[in-house]
Amino acid sequence: MNVHHSDALVFFGATGDLIYKKIFPALYAMERRGHLQAPVIGVARSDWTIEQFRARARASVEKHDGFDEAVFAKFQERLRYISGDYGAPATHAALRKELGDAAHPLHYLAIPPSVFEKVVERLGQSGCARGARVIIEKPFGRDLSSAQALSATLHTVFDESCVFRIDHYLGKESVQNLLVFRFANTFLEPFWNRTYVESVQITMAEKFGVEGRGSFYEESGAIRDVIQNHLLQVVGFLAMESPTKTNHEAIRDEQVKVFKMIRPLKPEDIVRGQFRGYREEEGVARDSKVETFAAARLRIDSPRWDGVPFFIRAGKCLPTTMTEVLVMLKPPAIGKLCAGQANYVRFRLSPDVTIAIGARVKRPGEELIGDLTELKVVNHPRGDEMDAYERLLSDAIVGDGTLFASQGGVEAAWAVVQPVLGLVTPVHDYEPGTWGPSEAEKLGAGICGCQSPVWLLPDGEDEESK
Ligand code: NDP
Repeated sequence: MNVHHSDALVFFGATGDLIYKKIFPALYAMERRGHLQAPVIGVARSDWTIEQFRARARASVEKHDGFDEAVFAKFQERLRYISGDYGAPATHAALRKELGDAAHPLHYLAIPPSVFEKVVERLGQSGCARGARVIIEKPFGRDLSSAQALSATLHTVFDESCVFRIDHYLGKESVQNLLVFRFANTFLEPFWNRTYVESVQITMAEKFGVEGRGSFYEESGAIRDVIQNHLLQVVGFLAMESPTKTNHEAIRDEQVKVFKMIRPLKPEDIVRGQFRGYREEEGVARDSKVETFAAARLRIDSPRWDGVPFFIRAGKCLPTTMTEVLVMLKPPAIGKLCAGQANYVRFRLSPDVTIAIGARVKRPGEELIGDLTELKVVNHPRGDEMDAYERLLSDAIVGDGTLFASQGGVEAAWAVVQPVLGLVTPVHDYEPGTWGPSEAEKLGAGICGCQSPVWLLPDGEDEESK
């Protein structure tokens, strides 16, 4: 690991949505904890004054609980603003001047990917990249070849060890808890394999639609937006072997091994859906075939998971907003004791954090029947946990890449979805407020050994109320 601390933080696209929604609150939280030591330099084309930039920062953080005028006063003193075209030498000369003695700047590219290349090139030419790290935001390309081209562009100026690909999902407490729960608990290991696990189901549901970002969504769709990255990251954590060390290379290497063992998807492994009304959204083509829902069946060719289907689904305008993993175990030999559903492990990743184990206990009375009950291991609403962006920024500042996507991981994940990108499969309509097209229910059909219906929710739990 390259251990120096970043001594200046530079945000390209400083006037944008991401900086406003996520970065200002994260920086402010770091200031509050006493963790922010460096100047914060915003760069964008908009002809703003420093006062406008500070006002934007204030508007962003003021609405959060616990706003403290004294903390903000300290924070705003760090802010600098440079206005200019991203590709103009004058902008980068001004940045070089503003960096002053900083020897290890951290450049955060919160700009559309189409602008990356010229910014990287100018950072190199102006000397701003010397001793620096760079953070880039997903999407990391639109497919395998563009992801490779993006890495090649970055590598013209930055060594791979200085490139931090942010997938904020990896910064979430609940996602990291998957890793700890799996590898810090000996009792789990004996059944965490093909002998006992029947299927793994991962759902990322959003109750809302595209919320005015139709033109952005048209370029992406559910597979590119969340399946290739967030949901495959979760699969990686669930399916990986124990890393030999807890350093970031070891964890990332094990995850990449999982991605490489996932069979590339075939058209019959995927169902794409689009909610009715999507084509009337602003910025969306009237004949759009972009998916707002996707469900996929993954196979992992490893000794641990051979034959165990991993079902993943993600969609917009579904009945609720939540992300959840269900690891379904095979039923016991005496089926009568367990009519219905067998044991399971449930990880709720958001909005609340839950780890629960579904177990059977005897129903009171004469009959020898097991009723399902849940043992809650963790159950807390979102508390004072560190926000994902705060954690990831703090990690990048000290050069810790554990929770960032690696080039190998990004490319291996693209290789999984590459064969089904675009219009290879039809897109089925679904009503807003439902669980996507009925075709998704059929993904589990014909799978040898898979007894449970796909997309099962724990007994007695109403989806809406969970
Ligand atoms: P915005 O669309 O808000 O753009 C950010 C800034 O970039 C704008 O304020 C604008 O600043 C500049 N910009 C916009 N379009 C262009 C263009 N065509 N050429 C040059 N500059 C342009 O983006 P976001 O802040 O939403 O996202 C930034 C990056 O983060 C993107 O790569 C996005 O995919 C990614 N991302 C965003 C998320 C979010 O929640 N917003 C979530 C995950 C990833 P100005 O005109 O002042 O220069």
